[in-house]
Amino acid sequence: MTVAEFASRYNLPIDVVREVFGLRNDSERGKSVASFGLSESELLKRTNRALALGQEYASKNWFKIPIKFALWMLLLAVVFILFRKSLISGKTRIFIYGAAVALFGVLFGSDPSPMGTVKDAVVLYGKSGAVFPPRMIALTVFILLTVGANKFICSWGCQFGTLQDLLFRINRNSSDTKGIFRQIRLPFVVTNGIRIVFFVFFTLMAVMYAFDAVEIIDPFKIFNPAMIGISGGIFIAMILVASPFVYRPWCHLFCPFGLVSWVFEKISLYKIQVDYDTCIACEKCAKACPSHVMGAILKRDSLIPDCFACGTCINACPTGSVQIRRGTRALPPVNKFKKQ
Ligand code: SF4
Ligand code: SF4
Repeated sequence: MTVAEFASRYNLPIDVVREVFGLRNDSERGKSVASFGLSESELLKRTNRALALGQEYASKNWFKIPIKFALWMLLLAVVFILFRKSLISGKTRIFIYGAAVALFGVLFGSDPSPMGTVKDAVVLYGKSGAVFPPRMIALTVFILLTVGANKFICSWGCQFGTLQDLLFRINRNSSDTKGIFRQIRLPFVVTNGIRIVFFVFFTLMAVMYAFDAVEIIDPFKIFNPAMIGISGGIFIAMILVASPFVYRPWCHLFCPFGLVSWVFEKISLYKIQVDYDTCIACEKCAKACPSHVMGAILKRDSLIPDCFACGTCINACPTGSVQIRRGTRALPPVNKFKKQ
């Protein structure tokens, strides 16, 4: 059987055939399949991989994606400048989160997203052994952003992260220091433990059974409601109902990119830092922080939870001692802060 006959028998597009046999020109389609020396299983593997990659390329909106990335970069740059000048208050925070949800979620949809780059990369590899280069570029950009400036992309750019944060901030007092209705901080060892178990579980399901375990609960589908099933609808409703009371439940408990970026944020160039010479140890920053992060920093904990670079601690400090700065985070003087 020739390559051309093989393609027509299995109804394979020309791009797929080129990829499978590594053809340099179309005249090679007259060669026999056997002359390529591929075993049946290798042929099947290559065909599956090439078909999967072809579907990935065809399913993307190549006009929308670069615009979305350009807008992400623009928004993050503006927020970073405002941040450095300490110009982000509770009201501007709500406004920016609302704008990010509207722009990156409602207008540009659920894809791409920081979460999707990790989840889809793992699932595609598990299902077909393929690696989709544009997705790896997107993932690298998101990781570089984390290495550059903490979880800035999660805090201000991610469409579902900002939606959860918006709901959380709506349930805060006017100075954004505590909840109107009680807000709970779940222990980080518990939330991170669940997130790690979920990551391992969904990776194993993808690699061993070619099954996408995130797909059925994927909350980013809120921006693509036609794709939401019953279990997904219930799960998304639970996350949204919890969000005003628990800080970013999806990010802390389940998100694959949340876990990856938590690891990379440890080597971030810019991070939240405290100037202990001017700090008066009032701990207002730790009380205002929506998570355990600032408390962990002040208590010299070795395990620092995800800092979403929200800047609430910057606003809460009465002496201007908290800032986002470059360099290694200094440890507080021993016994400066009481153990909680
Ligand atoms: S951790 Fe949250 S903000 Fe970051 S990608 Fe996941 S959902 Fe988005
Ligand atoms: S330490 Fe807390 S309040 Fe400060 S930026 Fe990080 S998450 Fe926000």
